[in-house]
Amino acid sequence: MHCCQEIQDALIDYINRRLDQPECCRIAVHLSECKACRDEVAFLIKIGRHCCGQAEDVPADMLESAFDKIPNTAGKYRFLDCLEPVYDSLQITCKTLRFAAQFI
Ligand SMILES: [Zn+2]
Repeated sequence: MHCCQEIQDALIDYINRRLDQPECCRIAVHLSECKACRDEVAFLIKIGRHCCGQAEDVPADMLESAFDKIPNTAGKYRFLDCLEPVYDSLQITCKTLRFAAQFI
């Protein structure tokens, strides 16, 4: 039996059919014998389906109009400046999830 960690590291490629035939067979045999890895592959497939069904880009006109509605009160609402790192973090998280969803 192969190491579960080694198998689980290859599961995303297995799901996305990026492995050659011998590697696919090796993983399929392991999955037939190992419930932990079967649970992991089921979990990855479920996440992939969920992410692919949910990820949608915000329409550009909506995104631009939302920022236009913020009043231009230079200096008055300085507290919004402290939200910029939060906004940047959320954008990075969103891009990371979209990137990861391509592999699941
Ligand atoms: Zn296993």
